[in-house]
Amino acid sequence: MDGSQSNFRKVYADNAATTAVSPEVLGAMLPFYKEIYGNPSSLYALGQEAKAPLEEARATVAACLGAKPNEIYFTSCGTESDNWAIKGCARAQQKRSGKNHIITSAFEHHAVLHTCQALEREGFTVTYLDVHSNGIVDPKELEAAITDQTALVTIMYANNEIGTIQPIAEIGEVCKRHNIPFHTDAVQAIGNVHIDVKAQNIDMLSLSGHKIHAPKGVGALYIRAGLPVQTFMDGGAQERNKRGGTENVAAIAGLATAIRRATDSIDQRVARLTPMRDKLIEGILKIERSRLNGSQEHRLPGNASFCFQGIEGESLLLLLDMKGISASSGSACTSGSLDPSHVLLSIGLPHEVAHGSLRLSFGDYNTMEDVDYILEVVPQIIQRLRNMSPLWDAIQTGKVDYDRFM
Ligand SMILES: *Cc1c(COP(=O)(O)O)cnc(C)c1O
Repeated sequence: MDGSQSNFRKVYADNAATTAVSPEVLGAMLPFYKEIYGNPSSLYALGQEAKAPLEEARATVAACLGAKPNEIYFTSCGTESDNWAIKGCARAQQKRSGKNHIITSAFEHHAVLHTCQALEREGFTVTYLDVHSNGIVDPKELEAAITDQTALVTIMYANNEIGTIQPIAEIGEVCKRHNIPFHTDAVQAIGNVHIDVKAQNIDMLSLSGHKIHAPKGVGALYIRAGLPVQTFMDGGAQERNKRGGTENVAAIAGLATAIRRATDSIDQRVARLTPMRDKLIEGILKIERSRLNGSQEHRLPGNASFCFQGIEGESLLLLLDMKGISASSGSACTSGSLDPSHVLLSIGLPHEVAHGSLRLSFGDYNTMEDVDYILEVVPQIIQRLRNMSPLWDAIQTGKVDYDRFM
C-alpha cells in the first residue's frame, strides 16, 4: 500500500452527510451579508429590500416542488422540518379527532424516528413498517396497517444510508384514499428524482439546504394549504405566524438557488452519476464476501452502500481517510455507541455483517477518476484489515458463516 503515496488525492465521497456550498449559491448569499442586511419585517426601505428576495425564494422553492408559495415555510434545518411536520400534524389530529396512531418505517432518519418515539411518550402509538431486504416499503403493507385511529403517515422519500427510493406516489395514493395526512422526508431525494407534491399526493415535505450544495442550518417544510398543523416554534409573526424567528435571508436565498439548480438538472445528474455509481458497485462487488445494501434498481444515482465480512467499518474509514478518501459507515461509533446502524439491521443483516459497512455517496463535484481511485484503494485496505482479523479467520475456516446474507 505504501508505494501508492504518489497517487494520493482527495476524494470527498460523503455527500449524503453534507455537501460543499456551490459558488453560485455563495454568490446568491453574499449580498445579504453586505448591503442588504435589513430585517425583512422592518417597514423602511432597507428591510423591504430583504423582503422581496425572501418571497422570491419562497416562490422558487414552491415552483421546484409543484407547490404554491404560501405552502412553503423556511426552517433552520431538515431536522426542524421533520419535527414540525410530525409533531405539529399528529398533535393537531389528536386535538381535533382524538386520533393517536402514526405509521412510519423502521429505517427513517433519526430526525423522524426519535420524533415518533417522543410522541410515543406522549401517548401516541407508532407502527414501524418493515422495509424488507431490498430497503423498500410495500404500499400494501402500509394500507394494511391503517386503522381508524391513524393520524399521520411519514415515510422518507430516499434513505440516507442505503439510498433506496420509496414508491412515494403509491404511498401518497393510499393515504389520500384513506384521507390520512402524508409527510415525506425528501432531504436526500431533492435533485435526484422528479417531485410534484400535488401529483404524488404529498401533504408535507421536508428538505434541507446542506445536502444540495447550500449551507448548513437552513431547511424548508411544504405544508399543503388547509392541512391543520400546529405551530412548532412560537415567536414573532414570521412565516405567516407559523414559525417565529427572524428569517435567515442569506441562507434562504442560497437554499432557493440550490434547489433551482438541483431540480433543473435532475436528468443530467442522474445520467452523470449513475454510471459512476454502477462502475463503483461492479468493482467493489468483485471483493469476495461483499454485498450491496438495498435495491440497485430503486436507488439514488449517487449512493452505494456495502458490507464486507470480517471488517470493522470504523477501521476501514480511518484507513480510507489516510488515503484521502472521506466516506462513512453505518455504525454510530462516533456517537459513543457500538450499536450497528438501525438501517442495516432493518434490512435483516446480523450485527456482525452490519458492522462492516461502507457508504460512498457522490455529488456534483465527483468524477469518474474518483471512482477509479476508490476502486484502487478499497480492495487493498479490505485485504489489509482482513489479514489482521480473527473474525475473517473464523469465516474462512467455516467456523462462522454469513454467506447467506451476501
Ligand atoms: C441530513 C438528513 C436530515 C437532517 O437534516 P439537517 O438539515 O442536517 O437537520 C434528515 N433526513 C435525512 C434523510 C437526511 O439525510
